[in-house]
Amino acid sequence: MPALFAGRGAWHAHAAENAGKVVRRRRKLSRIERIERRLLAGVWLALAGFALFAWRSLPTDADPVGPHLPTATASAQRPAAASAPAPALVTRTELGLPPARIAPPPPAADRTSPVQEARDRPAARPAMPAKAPARVPEGTPERPAVALLLDDFGHALDPIARTLALPAPVAMAFLPYPARTAEGAALARAAGREVLLHLPMQPRDPGVDPGPVVLRVDMDAPALLRTLDAALAAVPGTVGVNNHMGSLFTADRRGMEVVMEALAGRGLWFVDSRTTPDSVAAEAAGRFGVPVAVRDVFIDNEQDVAAVLARLDEAERVARRLGAALAIGHPHPATLAALERWIPQARRRGVVFWTVARYIAWRCSLPAFSRSAACVRHIAERPRRPG
Ligand SMILES: [Zn+2]
Repeated sequence: MPALFAGRGAWHAHAAENAGKVVRRRRKLSRIERIERRLLAGVWLALAGFALFAWRSLPTDADPVGPHLPTATASAQRPAAASAPAPALVTRTELGLPPARIAPPPPAADRTSPVQEARDRPAARPAMPAKAPARVPEGTPERPAVALLLDDFGHALDPIARTLALPAPVAMAFLPYPARTAEGAALARAAGREVLLHLPMQPRDPGVDPGPVVLRVDMDAPALLRTLDAALAAVPGTVGVNNHMGSLFTADRRGMEVVMEALAGRGLWFVDSRTTPDSVAAEAAGRFGVPVAVRDVFIDNEQDVAAVLARLDEAERVARRLGAALAIGHPHPATLAALERWIPQARRRGVVFWTVARYIAWRCSLPAFSRSAACVRHIAERPRRPG
């Protein structure tokens, strides 16, 4: 060190020089500190802005069709819809529909899980009342529709009264020969329900009795028309026809074309109960321009409440996949008990309930059917035949 060998003055000069260096260094340091502070403030400001943006983006009840993660409650209530696609008669592709969205937003009733409630901030953003997403059209996987048809009515009035009390527009098909048919059909019509003729047709199994009034494959056209006219006259206020049994007759092209030509002349539509996979009903209906629907699910082959509930869930799965489903059953005590329980639950899950006429109109809106003769005629006639 040169300072050790220098005189006192030199030491002073050296000390002064050192002091100057210290001051300059301090100035330099304080400039760096100021820059650092500014940078830090900028970072904090950016973080605060991002936090505010993230909070504003949280989904709430006010976003009915916004992006949504399925909640624990939603997936627990609809396990099969996501995990196990159920077998059905038709696919979306066959109906000319685009593929369904993988994860449709859960219906309104599912949006009150604890997770969702924890996300809401009532003080800052008052929660909107939960309501159905009105912008989503009915008859889509996001807003599935189920049409219900019960048949074999006419033997007793009790099941008719119980069916009329169901909170959905359940269509009712009456057999032409039982004692209570005319009275029951009048009650159903007065209550605004769709009344159908449940037309007995010959089954494949000769051991099964289809009743005293039945269309058989060995009847000629005049005999078929006489039987059909008598059956229609027995059920006042009929808007459509569906087959009782008929695993043999609905597969008979000649017989079904005689029936369809007659229905076309009377402005009636047809529901194929589809008691056989060989049924030509829809094809024959198309040839004569008869509006037609085909059953998706039988709900009560097993007369047990739990079994019927499982079949109703199957109908809902079909509707969530295709947009709508047509379910057919009978006014058995187990079926009615299951419907009394299931209809309100399904409504809370976002299912809407349609008349059969509405279901037929929806079917005609599908690309696969919209150009068929039945649909062209149906669309042309709809203004004159409301409901
Ligand atoms: Zn029947």
